Amino acid sequence: MLQVHRAPVVLPISAPPIIDGAILTQDGAIVEVGPFVRLRGRGLLQDHEGAILLPALINSHVHLELSHLAVLGQRQPRQGDMTGWIGELLAARRRCDDDGSTAGRLALDVLHEQGVARVADIGNLPESAGIGEGHPVRVHFFLEMLGFTPQSAANALARMQESQADCTSHAPYSNHARLLVAAKLRANSRNQIFPIHVAESRAEIDLLLDGSGPFRSFLEERGFWDDSFDPPGCGAVTYLDRLRLLDDKTLCVHCVHITEDEIALLAARQARVCLCPGSNRKLGVGRAPVEKMMRAGIVLGLGTDSLASNPQLSMWEEMRLLRQDHPQLAPATVLAMATRGGAQCLAAGENGELAPGRRADLIAVHAQGITAGNADDFLTSAGRNLQVSWVEEAR
Ligand SMILES: [Zn+2]
Repeated sequence: MLQVHRAPVVLPISAPPIIDGAILTQDGAIVEVGPFVRLRGRGLLQDHEGAILLPALINSHVHLELSHLAVLGQRQPRQGDMTGWIGELLAARRRCDDDGSTAGRLALDVLHEQGVARVADIGNLPESAGIGEGHPVRVHFFLEMLGFTPQSAANALARMQESQADCTSHAPYSNHARLLVAAKLRANSRNQIFPIHVAESRAEIDLLLDGSGPFRSFLEERGFWDDSFDPPGCGAVTYLDRLRLLDDKTLCVHCVHITEDEIALLAARQARVCLCPGSNRKLGVGRAPVEKMMRAGIVLGLGTDSLASNPQLSMWEEMRLLRQDHPQLAPATVLAMATRGGAQCLAAGENGELAPGRRADLIAVHAQGITAGNADDFLTSAGRNLQVSWVEEAR
């Protein structure tokens, strides 16, 4: 059935805002986008008075299986104490019988209510793949590998071989080089994207530069230190490039502590970057060089990360925080990260913009008195108090 959705403001993302715009859809796909006068009479009319219409949002990085540990995300912001937070998280997971699936499903419901159509979800438990099954939010689950010592890396390799799931590596500081390479080769053979935490904290860079810093003590205390570890003597992005891990299917999450040369490297390899401003703020690890990455032409998405390092899972809040951290960023640029940029990060080009042939995953945000000129400013500065509803959802 052909339907015409009309609203005072339509934001296609890949084209300028449309005043008194409309979206023509049929059977879950967008047929045409333009001024209402052009699409009038082409299908059953649905008038969305006082609303802004835009594509549903993409959350490029979340760990749904940690949702039951949300109390950790309520703590006071830290001052770059990454190992302290990881220690607390590991201890809480050890003590807790809950596998996180019930809270994970509720967290997914919350994301859906706020207009999220897709997420890239990272988990350590194979059963966490079930959290998103049958949910209206499309969940791409990745089973995450850990293994810094040769023995734990060998165990992870065996796990990967047995698993049917899409797998990924946690981070350069928690994976043996052999494991990083094997996980990426496996991802390539399945034509899947490869999300990996990269350069999140200064401590990670210290470990890679000369094997020193808080991560060394952290790994030693837990018996995970590897005496044969030969520090690559460079930053995380350079290290991954030497291992040939960077390409347009690699999604580097965080990228806070990277150099100008590494920004050029990410751009040259067409690697994608997911920013997590809310989590970075909570863990006090610093701010990513967003403007420089923008200027280099890197595809940027936005992610909430988990409730264990963020007080809420809200893409609207991530946009607000990103603008607060980087006031020079144009609102339209920030909104594009939460939509089209995220879709590109997830290799899901059928979402993220209003254009013919794209999925009709459409949301409305209620905003009386908003004009085409200030709609993106309003959407990216309001945070999670917006009134969002689904207009249409492709199945
Ligand atoms: Zn994460």
